[in-house]
Amino acid sequence: MATKDPYEVLGVDRKASEAEIKKAYRRLARKHHPDVNASDAAAKRKFQEIAAAYEVLKDPKRRKHFDTTGDTGGAPEGGAPRPSGAGPFGGGSPFGGTARGPSSFRWSGDFGDLFSDLFSGARAGGPRGTEEEDDDAAAELTISFRDAVLGGTITLQVRYPRRCARCGGSGRVGASACPSCHGAGEVVSKERLSVRIPAGVATGSKVRVPGKGRSEKGDLYVALTVVPHQYFSREGDDILAEVPVTVSEAYLGAEIDVPTIHGPVRARIPPGTAGGQRFRLKGYGVRSGRGADGDHTYRVSIAMPGRPTEEGRALAAKFAGLYERDPRANLPSGL
Ligand SMILES: [Zn+2]
Repeated sequence: MATKDPYEVLGVDRKASEAEIKKAYRRLARKHHPDVNASDAAAKRKFQEIAAAYEVLKDPKRRKHFDTTGDTGGAPEGGAPRPSGAGPFGGGSPFGGTARGPSSFRWSGDFGDLFSDLFSGARAGGPRGTEEEDDDAAAELTISFRDAVLGGTITLQVRYPRRCARCGGSGRVGASACPSCHGAGEVVSKERLSVRIPAGVATGSKVRVPGKGRSEKGDLYVALTVVPHQYFSREGDDILAEVPVTVSEAYLGAEIDVPTIHGPVRARIPPGTAGGQRFRLKGYGVRSGRGADGDHTYRVSIAMPGRPTEEGRALAAKFAGLYERDPRANLPSGL
């Protein structure tokens, strides 16, 4: 993996400063992070390339070695620890409770949680100070089970903290406080935010909203939480549910409408179906477009007609005579 020019991979000038290299790396790493691009193998390769390029350029010795020899493999001396100071995403939330949209939407500002596998430990005790170099933002969004499975676009009216354009976020113009943001460095604007949800996301999935970071140059990274459904549940790409049938439907067999997330599907209950038996409607689960579609799996439960009546007692007595053997005969003994 050592052949690509790391400057080219990170898109930085050969004279780029350490801060510029770090900034370029952070932006690209987030953009191509496998969590954000679960369906995209090319993005994963790109991500590894970016990480490898950064490994070379963040280490002054390896960088110099590459500059003089064109060799990216220059041996670094041991695993140089990450420079102390602020982590890649700065300390603390730049939005600290300044804005709140609908209850399902929450600014996070904390990339440590969003991408903890990539940047774990990077935030430990670092002082603030890197905010100026980061245009991206983070948020959390709670979506319905249906939206997670089927995908779609969620549009929200959000009070949006943006870096003040007048002072560039410093809060000062010349020697005095910035008249636009009154020294805060950011202004809150009301904006319509459209978040495109790909079909098949789950709690923990992340999506990127281009151009909606702390400035127009940055992106917004949204971590999703999915509300459980009152009827369906999910196991990977399969959707699970229970379908009650009558005693006679189970015994004689029947055609019934099985509710799926894609609408009701006509399905056959075979004669002699027992309670707890599972059936599968192929392709009626999550259709994410990544590999095979999931299935809708339903478990039959047998509904009773209610309190026994005189007529019911007589029928039940006849019915009991139809069993060829004790249904508990095959239970393991010695429990
Ligand atoms: Zn300002």
